[in-house]
Amino acid sequence: MPLNRNLNEDQILLRDTVRKFAEEEIYHKAKELDEKEEFSYELTQGMADLGLLGALIPEEYGGSALDYVSYIIAVEEIARIDGSHGATVAAHNSLGTGPLITFGNEEQKKKYLPKLATGNLWGFGLTEPEAGSDAGNTQTTAEKDGDEWVINGSKIFITNSATDKTLGSTVLAKTGTSANGKSELTCFIVENDARGFTQKEMHGKMMWRASNTGELYFEDVRVKDSAILGKRGDGFKQMLATLDKGRLSIAAMGLGLAQGAFEYMLKYSKERKTFGKPISTYQANAFKMADVEMGLELSRPYLYDVCRMAEEKLNITKEGAIAKLYCSELAHTAANHCVQILGGYGLMKEYDAEKYYRDQKLLEIGEGTSEIQRIVIARALGCFDY
Ligand SMILES: Cc1cc2nc3c(=O)[nH]c(=O)nc-3n(C[C@H](O)[C@H](O)[C@H](O)COP(=O)(O)OP(=O)(O)OC[C@H]3O[C@@H](n4cnc5c(N)ncnc54)[C@H](O)[C@@H]3O)c2cc1C
Repeated sequence: MPLNRNLNEDQILLRDTVRKFAEEEIYHKAKELDEKEEFSYELTQGMADLGLLGALIPEEYGGSALDYVSYIIAVEEIARIDGSHGATVAAHNSLGTGPLITFGNEEQKKKYLPKLATGNLWGFGLTEPEAGSDAGNTQTTAEKDGDEWVINGSKIFITNSATDKTLGSTVLAKTGTSANGKSELTCFIVENDARGFTQKEMHGKMMWRASNTGELYFEDVRVKDSAILGKRGDGFKQMLATLDKGRLSIAAMGLGLAQGAFEYMLKYSKERKTFGKPISTYQANAFKMADVEMGLELSRPYLYDVCRMAEEKLNITKEGAIAKLYCSELAHTAANHCVQILGGYGLMKEYDAEKYYRDQKLLEIGEGTSEIQRIVIARALGCFDY
């Protein structure tokens, strides 16, 4: 179990409360929801009732106004039990409400944040079929027509965007060409019931099967000038700043998943006997647990430290990438070892190892793949000439 080092009383209380909810409410439903590929409105509302959907929203808009470490601890605790529900909370806060809180004007905040703190969801529409790692290659367009904008295009893989509780998404669109010849990109707030805007739930995911992932289609969707988030032309900058912080929640998901897989294999290895002895007594197995424990012990304080940097509004581009990369690779290692320690049982759905193994994979892909994280870190080191 993680120690209480450097956590204050409120953070420990929050961690214990979320852990209880995850263990008592999410755990026994998670496998069936995963199997059926079903999003749970009931559990999502349960997490909202705990204040987790409004984790970063200021109190004046009905949120819990948690500090960043507390929010990250909550994500970690849910991901320790189930990746899908960890994803719902992480994406809603870091990617959904995050840009509205940071870049929204007073009118936009008043309109959306109270609902998003209490059970409604919001999507982050960056990725397109031709714009994943190369997110600047956005093809969706928004053309000015009087005091309106007409949006055409599509988005793919947008978390929380296609549920009955989703109010809308922040959508990046090309609004022109900048002086330097590059696309001028702007973020728009688009509500799910806007005419011409359709959301289609995606099915067939290997992992996070109980989390909602949507494709978004825009056919002559008209929004007013007032739907622009922040300033025209600032969209790409806003998206990148959002991802810097978002990567901390992916890191938290990695840490939580690694912790869950670690506890599961440690317990199993002490109970399972071969050749008359618990398998934990064989060095080949014990070293796997030692390696994962070392990763957990080293990465948790680092992640919390970067959260404190975010709280102080320091630049965390490099540190966020390091945390995301390291914790997602730790989750990969932990889940892999967990399956190996369980032998044949590790491959069976009845045991938790199998789901940990599937769920970890997204962490090395979403919000910037591991290759992109290495590029971000190397760029911060001045390795590239661009
Ligand atoms: C379940 C799920 C939820 C998601 N949620 C959201 C969401 O809420 N909002 C959103 O906007 N997006 C979301 N995404 C999209 C996700 O962020 C992208 O899938 C991811 O950024 C990778 O883009 P891509 O899939 O197009 O892969 P590609 O960009 O096509 O990359 C393919 C491979 O090439 C590698 N590669 C690409 N460029 C380089 C390079 N320059 N150097 C070295 N290697 C490179 C990549 O690392 C990767 O291994 C989600 C995805 C999934 C699967």
